[in-house]
Amino acid sequence: MPTIMSGNSVPSENRTTGDHERVDRAEETAFVDSADLFVEKDITKETAVKQKRVWVRLTRLCNQRCTFCLDSWNQNGTMVKASELQAFIRRGYEQGGERLILSGGEATVHPDFLKLCRYGKELGYRWVQTVTNGQMFAYPDFARKAKLSGLDEATFSMHGHDAKLHDRLVGLPGAFDRANQGIRNLQALGGVVVNIDIVINRMNVAHIRDIIDFYMNMGIREFDLLYIVPFGRGFEEYREQLFFNLDDSFEHLQRAFEVSAQPGVYLWTNRFPVSYLEGYEHLIQEPHKLHSEVNGGRHNFDGYLKTGTPPDCYGERCNHCFLNGLCKTTMFRYRTLFLEGTFRRIRIDADRPADWDRAAPRLVNQTPNVVHIEAKTAKAAQQLVSRLPYDDKPLWVAELPVEEVVTLAREPGRFRGLRLKGQRAIEGLLAGVGAEFDRIEVVLNQDVANKLLLPETNTSLEPELKKKLVLVLPNHPYLSESRANDPGVEQLRDLVTAQYRLANVPRCIGGDNATAGDFDEITPQMVGADLHLDTDLYVDRYIEGEYYSKSLRCKDCVVFHECRGLHINYLRNVGLGALKPLFKANN
Ligand code: SF4
Ligand code: SF4
Repeated sequence: MPTIMSGNSVPSENRTTGDHERVDRAEETAFVDSADLFVEKDITKETAVKQKRVWVRLTRLCNQRCTFCLDSWNQNGTMVKASELQAFIRRGYEQGGERLILSGGEATVHPDFLKLCRYGKELGYRWVQTVTNGQMFAYPDFARKAKLSGLDEATFSMHGHDAKLHDRLVGLPGAFDRANQGIRNLQALGGVVVNIDIVINRMNVAHIRDIIDFYMNMGIREFDLLYIVPFGRGFEEYREQLFFNLDDSFEHLQRAFEVSAQPGVYLWTNRFPVSYLEGYEHLIQEPHKLHSEVNGGRHNFDGYLKTGTPPDCYGERCNHCFLNGLCKTTMFRYRTLFLEGTFRRIRIDADRPADWDRAAPRLVNQTPNVVHIEAKTAKAAQQLVSRLPYDDKPLWVAELPVEEVVTLAREPGRFRGLRLKGQRAIEGLLAGVGAEFDRIEVVLNQDVANKLLLPETNTSLEPELKKKLVLVLPNHPYLSESRANDPGVEQLRDLVTAQYRLANVPRCIGGDNATAGDFDEITPQMVGADLHLDTDLYVDRYIEGEYYSKSLRCKDCVVFHECRGLHINYLRNVGLGALKPLFKANN
């Protein structure tokens, strides 16, 4: 199957080719290091991540023997037949693929590599890319034919700033010089974007900035820093030589990260621990890349969710694994909650009753604390209640337009809670709407926060109603949505000062009364046709509901062990610096 996923590298419309001017360190002072620059780059990166990419592996062999190769277990010296590859490429295109990525093993050693580039281009892919060790491009004729066959981008895997370091890491004498000749060959032709992947490991961590400088001097402006992962040959054969303590090496990486402040330079990180990126939040890996990571080991995740068989990488590797939060910490917990019926929350959309009917056999045994019904009308919410098996012990929350609250209030039935959105919700509350309910949640955005902070709003709200009011900071799947909608941290703190209760923020922002987010929540959509948790929908749920992080400084905070920190996209929006550890005296 072709693998369709999101990924790194800048969309073609956001960059130029043949960018050959030399960059000297002395020029750096002229560069603008502004928040606007990072916002612009974030937008470009988000556009890249949303682009549909089709990854196709051409070979299970390679002409290098990289020490860190995570694909070594998959290599058996074979090539995939061109006819099969063409079928994959076509299917990927028909499924909406925009960018074709030819990889391996090493893609360029496949005898039909050029033919496949041309095939992809003629089918209609907007962009054809290869991820390569670069050896074949050292042959000028091959580089020329690749360009003529429609290759738009070549991502070179380069791991040293000199031949000694690079050749040692990739296990092939002469590899550095040949790959660099390949880069020069493509640059001389023009029209093919060249960028660099670097695997960060113990041997090169002190030289990442040197590697970037070396290639910037060759005119390259896009770098992807890949954190070493505990899979394949790197963990099995070279663990001691490659794995390192990030605390000891972080200052070297900071030197490298500084490059990202330069206009026109795109730096990405892959699998880099979020807590370490304080001040460099623009480098946090786009959360949807987790889908690509999961696709790479899909049999493991599907297998675990269906049968409970732990992934074949489970064990010592987990301590070094970027997926620990998604996998061992949360996926394992979700399966237990699913089987034991102990999800804390269940959320059901009244507009999608068929989803409930399909998933019901696996959800009727749940004993949630909160049943959250989303509906457009009070009638639809009530109709759904009559079909659900849960009694009146949980808190039943209706999420519906404020205009419908009056109707629901006439006959609230099981509903004791409301979740409302938008400025009209505040106008409704000021008019006394919702007073019959025990808990009224209002989803925050900038306008709602501004309205609530007006002195006349604060004084006009009925004190009894205000006691029931909880302001929920929402989670967004994308950073741009958080930037466009969410209130800033100072606004949140002002709301606390104005005696509002907040949810889904840590105590260092929301104070002692702040409550948790919608953790441990299941929806009928997460249950697949086979009545097991669906892997992709679980990953979406993780990104939107469970992917939180904290600062390294949080380890000093008195509530460290019970605190999840901030949702990943709000954190990318406001920065880890917003978190202020609580000490005994000010707790
Ligand atoms: S956390 Fe999951 S993916 Fe990572 S090594 Fe452990 S079992 Fe494998
Ligand atoms: S652990 Fe971190 S995020 Fe949580 S309250 Fe403390 S400082 Fe804030």
